[in-house]
Amino acid sequence: MGFNKFFKGATEIGRAMGVTLKHLTQKPITVEYPASPVPLYPRFRGKHELRRYENGMERCIGCMLCEAACPTAAIYVEAEENDPNHPTSPGERYAKVYEVNLLRCVFCGDCEEACPVEAIVLGSEFAMANYNRRDFILTKQQLLNPGEPNVVIRPE
Ligand code: SF4
Ligand code: SF4
Repeated sequence: MGFNKFFKGATEIGRAMGVTLKHLTQKPITVEYPASPVPLYPRFRGKHELRRYENGMERCIGCMLCEAACPTAAIYVEAEENDPNHPTSPGERYAKVYEVNLLRCVFCGDCEEACPVEAIVLGSEFAMANYNRRDFILTKQQLLNPGEPNVVIRPE
């Protein structure tokens, strides 16, 4: 009886050590973040971005559909008529104020789907830690990305 228990215990330890030895020879699955980039899935939804057209014009036409679609009231839009001589967007109106409250956002992507001109998109930025609650409210200037007019939209 005692020998059987000893034998069973030794077998289990041997099996567990086998698993350890097997993983010793494999590449680690952990990543040295932030020194190494973290691989993201193509449909990952991160920090919002407001897109522009190639000519620099803002896509957003201030229709507020994203604000209405947001289930957590995380978006605030104030629209204003475009100056016909110097329009900000191709529509009649543009977003004078556009804010996203990251403390409310659940990253559902409903705003992205509601937008008729693909102006608001959820990008790939995920490092959004901050020290101050006010800094979690993204302003229009923070959301607009002048350097990247064609932020890639996630594949369906
Ligand atoms: S991703 Fe969802 S919760 Fe976040 S702002 Fe857009 S609609 Fe609102
Ligand atoms: S981001 Fe799109 S849905 Fe939201 S106000 Fe601008 S145009 Fe309308």
